[in-house]
Amino acid sequence: MASKLIKILGAGISGLSAAITLARNGLRVEVFEKSSHAGGRFNRDFQCLRNFGDMTVNPIAEFEKLGITLKPYKKLKRIFRYSRSHSFEVVRNNQPIYYLVLRGRSKNSIDSQLENLAVSQAVNINYHTKLNINEVDIVATGPLKADGFAYGRIYEDTNLDEAGYIFLDMRYSPSGYVYVLPGEKKGEAAVIETVRDPSIGQESVKLSFNRALQENTVLNDLLNGATMKSIERGVGCSTLLDNPYQNNRYYVGEAAGLQDATAGFGIRYAVISGYLAALSILDDKDYNQLIADEFKTLLEFERTRSENFKKLSNEDIDKIFKEINKKFGQEVTIEEYESIRGVI
Ligand SMILES: Cc1cc2nc3c(=O)[nH]c(=O)nc-3n(C[C@H](O)[C@H](O)[C@H](O)COP(=O)(O)OP(=O)(O)OC[C@H]3O[C@@H](n4cnc5c(N)ncnc54)[C@H](O)[C@@H]3O)c2cc1C
Repeated sequence: MASKLIKILGAGISGLSAAITLARNGLRVEVFEKSSHAGGRFNRDFQCLRNFGDMTVNPIAEFEKLGITLKPYKKLKRIFRYSRSHSFEVVRNNQPIYYLVLRGRSKNSIDSQLENLAVSQAVNINYHTKLNINEVDIVATGPLKADGFAYGRIYEDTNLDEAGYIFLDMRYSPSGYVYVLPGEKKGEAAVIETVRDPSIGQESVKLSFNRALQENTVLNDLLNGATMKSIERGVGCSTLLDNPYQNNRYYVGEAAGLQDATAGFGIRYAVISGYLAALSILDDKDYNQLIADEFKTLLEFERTRSENFKKLSNEDIDKIFKEINKKFGQEVTIEEYESIRGVI
């Protein structure tokens, strides 16, 4: 007898993570992707995976345990954090602070890596195909609504070395930040602004991003002589569904609202929730309970951090940075940073 067929909407991180796990365990899986490639939301974006916090193993090893092998292109051991008038550097010698991963169309992207894994398990991926949500078993489309926005650009020939930069300045990125991450090749960089305010539209984010580029002298120096290659933009959803399993359907990744409410990170949530949806199908487990058990504490920490962060003015942030400089100096170890991460 033919095994059950599972239909998944979206060939991004969460959809492919679910597809790989289901197919590996003998189920037939069909994925429907509206764009021409896996990770269709992105052209060629540089994103990161946090390697600190409450995690007991690093995210790459954690995914490996789930049977999801992902290769980062770089490890970041230095992050510069700026308020309007102060700065400090977070350093970590023995391990990376972040793993950097490529997103989108490129053959080295984690989307392509997952696509290869899925195809090797006989998953059938239909590109340029859109189905209605009620025609599928797993919804893995990314955000179904927006409570945050991102806008930015990918550059070549920047002056960026092997460090990341984070700028907190409410004039440009209310409740969010501007960040710079090194790309795959020397001099490549992603410069992206995030805003965590649903009342601010995508167009305003683009305007304030342009102002940040003009007015921020550190950004100016980093981008002096650089060439813009492409634009990356998107919305984010960190409003968790009351029931990620509803109407006989699994919502995974950002479609379920699984995203860090402050940082906008969602890759780890997407890999793990995709895996948990598959586990629920395979072992007849309660997906809503699995999600709560896995993420409740983390989501609450991130929600509180986000609410606290939203209340801060630029003056508050400057004051906090000044205190950090006074307490730890200019260089802050990851352990020292951990002790204040709930605040800034
Ligand atoms: C600019 C930007 C930078 C980011 N940086 C980071 C970062 O550094 N670290 C991090 O952890 N997270 C980051 N995120 C968030 C992260 O990208 C997402 O949380 C993660 O990709 C969510 O995975 P997902 O599987 O839910 O959705 P996605 O990976 O977005 O996959 C959704 C897929 O579904 C397809 N799709 C959508 N609608 C349909 C439809 N109706 N029919 C068929 N297919 C459909 C899309 O084309 C896409 O391929 C960033 C997001 C943005 C916008």
